[in-house]
Amino acid sequence: MSDSNEKKIIIAIDGYSSCGKSTVAKEIAKKLNYVFIDSGAMYRAVTLFCLRNGLVAGGTVNLTKLPEKLESVHITFAFNPATAHNDIFLNGENVETEIRQLAVAQNVSQIAAIADVRRLMVAQQQEMGRTKGIVMDGRDIGTVVFPEAELKIFMTADAKIRAQRRYDEMIAKNEKVDFQEILKNITDRDRFDETRDESPLRRAEDAIVLDNSHMTREEQFEWILGKVEEKIKKHG
Ligand code: C5P
Repeated sequence: MSDSNEKKIIIAIDGYSSCGKSTVAKEIAKKLNYVFIDSGAMYRAVTLFCLRNGLVAGGTVNLTKLPEKLESVHITFAFNPATAHNDIFLNGENVETEIRQLAVAQNVSQIAAIADVRRLMVAQQQEMGRTKGIVMDGRDIGTVVFPEAELKIFMTADAKIRAQRRYDEMIAKNEKVDFQEILKNITDRDRFDETRDESPLRRAEDAIVLDNSHMTREEQFEWILGKVEEKIKKHG
């Protein structure tokens, strides 16, 4: 499957918050020997920058100061052999853990709705996919970043099931969390992402829906891999 003579494609995985998009995208990328990019991590890193620099508080963004400050935001990824994951760096600092905090999750949708922020992120994402062989997950990958992607998946799952998965994950990491708070954050972000003016979350017309409410990780992986194989045969 990862034969170097095979034509490489772009795989866009969009969908609702906490559907497990990044988990399965990463596994698919590894199987195909493709690059994996978690575009949500990029918006989270910008949000962390804004929180640290007093540009966002209580969901309100300082739109006067933000554009000039954005010039000093540099996001990069580097492979971490210990976790076999592409860690995200904000101005040279590994912020992989910090961007997963609830404070970031609670402000990220506001930051991601800003046109200047999206322009900057989308340009970087398109550059990363220039030579194809990439799996990118997010909210606008199949609609805006790579409208020409050969394979587009739109992931969804019941909100309570998604919240329970996220809750279990955080408890396993010994984090103090409240189920209702997580559920609220997930549904708030979905609503915000779907109703914003700039690149709202929506299924691309040519995206295939994957509802993983009652699927295991292995089943999701096999389902997507089946679609990849069909596409590679068609485009190869
Ligand atoms: O994927 P993740 O949940 O980490 O994304 C965090 C937030 O970043 C989303 O709730 C959404 O507001 C924003 N996002 C976006 N466009 C993307 C990826 C993420 O607006 N392509």
